[in-house]
Amino acid sequence: MSYQTLTILGSTGSIGESTLDVVSRHPERFRIFALSGHHQVEKLADQCLRFRPRYAVVSDEHHARRLRELLGSLKSDTEVLHGKQALTDIAVAPEVTGVMAAIVGAAGLQPTLAAARQGKTVYLANKETLVVSGSLFMQAAQQSGAKVLPVDSEHNAIFQVLPRDFSGSLDAHGIQSLILTASGGPFLDTPLNRFADITPQQAVKHPNWSMGQKISVDSATMMNKGLELIEAHWLFNCPAEKLEVVVHPQSVIHSMVRYADGSVLAQMGTPDMRTPIAYCLGLPERMASGVAPLDFGKLSALTFRQPDFERFPCLKLAYQAMRQGGDAPCVLNAANEIAVAAFLNGRIRFTDIFTVVEQSLSAHAGGGANSIEHLLASDETVRQYAETVCRTFSSR
Ligand code: NAD
Ligand code: MG
Repeated sequence: MSYQTLTILGSTGSIGESTLDVVSRHPERFRIFALSGHHQVEKLADQCLRFRPRYAVVSDEHHARRLRELLGSLKSDTEVLHGKQALTDIAVAPEVTGVMAAIVGAAGLQPTLAAARQGKTVYLANKETLVVSGSLFMQAAQQSGAKVLPVDSEHNAIFQVLPRDFSGSLDAHGIQSLILTASGGPFLDTPLNRFADITPQQAVKHPNWSMGQKISVDSATMMNKGLELIEAHWLFNCPAEKLEVVVHPQSVIHSMVRYADGSVLAQMGTPDMRTPIAYCLGLPERMASGVAPLDFGKLSALTFRQPDFERFPCLKLAYQAMRQGGDAPCVLNAANEIAVAAFLNGRIRFTDIFTVVEQSLSAHAGGGANSIEHLLASDETVRQYAETVCRTFSSR
């Protein structure tokens, strides 16, 4: 069997580590070309020793020096690079067949877009790429012939239960709607009058999934589901009115497709990201992922409810941004990244996240989304604006 040569952008994160865990179970199928880890030098050094990539990338010179020292003392021959251009270089190198896009936030956009432009298979975990630049990204993939395989569990579930020959037209396949399931996060039943006092420690403690901090907070506000609506809109060419969200607190059904004949097809499994990762990496075959089998004996119930927009107003904002289109999703994402970071640093309250995003949308959305330069400029402007809004809250 021929093997795949992979670059893993964000290998030190939650998705990155799960990817390496799946890869390590199938050494005959994969070679690691490059890894990246921002500032997480120790973890990256350890991964370099285990997977022997040609390159390891960190974000600045200081961390590059530290990583070189560590690797030198460990007799590793991995070459250390740093900076944004290096992330793009390891994503587009001719040897690379597939790129796992697992950097968090809009920082992952440029190397992921470059991989799509270069025709690489893109294993897409970084949903922010599609939220910020969905139209450009999908066009780039179409033009180059790059395959885009969704790693996000909901989109992966939908991908698994769509017809094999799905052409990008819901109507042509008798599809009525796509149903994204949402756990509802840790505050599904918390009294609303306690929301202002929610701490970062409480917010990052997801009941079912183990994930990075940013996405955990997004799950707690349900902004994550909002970002995923926009992600599904672009991935499956699905209009807003055919996207449903249903709260399913057990996270066993990962999403569903509703067909014209009344059938609803669902994908189920133990909530563990190694399943969607293994599905994407193994295609067209299924391969072992290390995920514990779903034990029906231990499942007492699968329950469902409608999302509550009063409790989760960020979800409503995301619907609005999706309907508005243009640069509104980019504004939504940038403001949310700043607000979540400020909340995690103890600078603003949990409930302020919504206000920062809402104010940023009314102040800045309304432009187009036709060029990456415009979107990156808008991303930067909104970050600065959202910072100033956060400062007014921190000085309270
Ligand atoms: P994480 O915080 O655990 O890891 C993020 C990775 O990105 C790390 O390797 C980190 O070093 C790197 N990174 C952070 N900031 C960077 C920057 N400015 N420049 C370069 N690299 C940077 O995040 P995660 O939970 O693994 O999520 C990664 C992506 O996958 C996110 O877009 C998230 O929405 C998506 N996703 C995650 C899960 C999950 O279960 N964790 C599920 C679905 C989708
Ligand atoms: Mg998801």
